[in-house]
Amino acid sequence: MKKIAVITSGGDAPGMNACIRAIVNTAWQEGIDVIGFRHGFRGIVENLAQPLHPDDMRLVSQRGGTFLKSARYPEFRDAATAEAAAKQLDAHGISALIVIGGDGSFRGAHHLTKYWPKQVIGVPGTIDNDLTGTDVAIGFSTAVDTAVEAIDRVRETAEAMARVFIIEVMGRRAGFIGLHAAIASAAEAMILPEMEPQPKLANLADNIRQARKKFPDSSYIVILSENLWPGGVHGLAESLSQATGTTCHPCPLGHIQRGGRPNAQDRILAMQLGQAAVAAILKGSNDIMVGFANKQVVEVPISRTFERDKPLNQGLVDLQFGLQGVNFTSKNGR
Ligand code: ATP
Repeated sequence: MKKIAVITSGGDAPGMNACIRAIVNTAWQEGIDVIGFRHGFRGIVENLAQPLHPDDMRLVSQRGGTFLKSARYPEFRDAATAEAAAKQLDAHGISALIVIGGDGSFRGAHHLTKYWPKQVIGVPGTIDNDLTGTDVAIGFSTAVDTAVEAIDRVRETAEAMARVFIIEVMGRRAGFIGLHAAIASAAEAMILPEMEPQPKLANLADNIRQARKKFPDSSYIVILSENLWPGGVHGLAESLSQATGTTCHPCPLGHIQRGGRPNAQDRILAMQLGQAAVAAILKGSNDIMVGFANKQVVEVPISRTFERDKPLNQGLVDLQFGLQGVNFTSKNGR
């Protein structure tokens, strides 16, 4: 009987549990046993194995986080640690490993293929949505929903008190959450890592001053991706307060963006990709990610997923720039 293993690795993402369910149930139908290792790559090395059976998968899909637990485990970069993981997988008689995670986890998965001559399959699970070769990753849609709901709440109090808020969202190297959240919340400004050049403080301050002058009774919201400004959201809020003479309130959304029940879209995506990962194993694929591009399941060499920076959708960037602040900045002489 064939036996495969699954781990969730790196930052957890809503929908990972639904993906595990799809893997376990699909494999079961093919006569394949599945075990999980808790805490990502560390769990393989430390033998934190957990048998997975369809009976236990009935009520996991609606839960956020990952019941298999995740971990950051920098030691996995060492050859000796990867060799130790390969030995553990062999000791369990595993013929394929599925890694659900982001770009770091996929580097780890690719690294393992050099020491373990079996099958390694990646499933994109990261709220950052920054993996090349897949239009979407498990957890992104829910994270955007969560961010937008939080921003809507801030908007209500900001509007009531006519306040300026700088809201920091996750995505330290990729602005996908920031872009989608900015559009959906009708933000007045956004600052993302991909913006070249980065906006100047003087221009941001100028924009806020214009808005305050025209609409002194209204709110103003800037969406800022994390780690972008010296001193982060607090540093930017302080600098803007000084430059504008108006208090600008910092509001980091933080880890609430990772948690919560996955939305329907993420559950469905997770189950499609979980099923596709088992299908990829059955047809002998190795060192690939199963992703979703142009509305179809695709297989992409795993090294390609993290070698290139995935660009933002320029149409969406233009959409936000075209709409934000249109009523208080002078455009077309109006
Ligand atoms: P997210 O970015 O969504 O938080 P991620 O998968 O990118 O998820 P990381 O912490 O970057 O999260 O990576 C997860 C784990 O993958 C690391 O803790 C480490 O165990 C392993 N890993 C990352 N980079 C490498 C590498 N270059 N070689 C081997 N293993 C790696």
